[in-house]
Amino acid sequence: MSSQEKQSILIIYTGGTIGMVKDTADNSLKPLDFNHITEEIPELRKIAHELHWMSLDPVIDSSDVKPENWKLMAETVFKNYNKYDGFIILHGTDTMAYSASALSFHLQNLNKPVVFTGSQLPIGLVRTDGRENLISAIEIAAVKEKGRAMVPEVSVYFENKLLRGNRTTKYSADNFNAFISPNYPPLAESGVYLKFHRQNIYYPDTEKKLILNRKFNTSVGLLKIFPGISRDFVEPVLTNKKLKAIVLESFGAGNSTTESWFTKLLEKYIKEGGIVLNVTQCLAGSVEQGKYETSLALQQAGLIGGADITSEAALTKLMYLLGQDISKKEILIRLNQSIIGEIT
Ligand code: ASP
Repeated sequence: MSSQEKQSILIIYTGGTIGMVKDTADNSLKPLDFNHITEEIPELRKIAHELHWMSLDPVIDSSDVKPENWKLMAETVFKNYNKYDGFIILHGTDTMAYSASALSFHLQNLNKPVVFTGSQLPIGLVRTDGRENLISAIEIAAVKEKGRAMVPEVSVYFENKLLRGNRTTKYSADNFNAFISPNYPPLAESGVYLKFHRQNIYYPDTEKKLILNRKFNTSVGLLKIFPGISRDFVEPVLTNKKLKAIVLESFGAGNSTTESWFTKLLEKYIKEGGIVLNVTQCLAGSVEQGKYETSLALQQAGLIGGADITSEAALTKLMYLLGQDISKKEILIRLNQSIIGEIT
């Protein structure tokens, strides 16, 4: 049985469309003062839980998000962890998949829900999708079963689905249904009832204490290949000594051009200490290095196959692993393993 007792939820506004209202003077969108949130969403008064609000400083459009902002979000959850039953992070949609992935690596042994949500239309507009997203995210974060949180994960709630944060990607710039998790089924769905898919939810060992991993190393890059890609474009990237790791977005099941200049540059980069994680440009499916001749060369050059990881999770996982005090060998092992459900 899930419980509907009064829970205490911290709602952290980081910026983005969801917290915007129209300034009647000049018609521009500006951040809402959350002390007045119930004027915009009176339904919040009917919620049976205790809601606490805070805005991070600075409030940003999520296109400006940086690892410092992720650290601040994670520290805010960490500092308030014992005071609340669940956390909602209100965030712009543009980079929400990156931030949710990053937080899943920042917060280890999470036992409480951290639900990211946002909206395509500002909360101050009549047709806003923010109202339903926020209310359902709160309801989900408050559900407990036998005294423990129903969804103790970093997740993304949008439209009518709760998705594992590090499996999501933004796929529509204007649909209310803006996020998908193509390689992992939803954790919950909302309709007339909230339906939790317990078999998809990750339940950690409750005995373990929450750990905040503060250190991320941002010397990573993303290289998306395309037909006609030139050596002039690739060489400066793969000879850049400051780049410790690269996510290579390849075609299909992990294939790339077989031109020898390309594989030789990759080989040299890896021999000299670099790490290359091969992920697919496709929205769904998995990299299988060696399946075709066009990916065998990549495998032989030393690339790590990223399986079904998203680019967002791949980049943030590398930032996290490079920030730990571990050897390259250890990093390569962990890239092949799931740390917090980011690969199958
Ligand atoms: N540019 C905005 C942001 O990501 C869009 C949004 O909120 O959906 O912050």
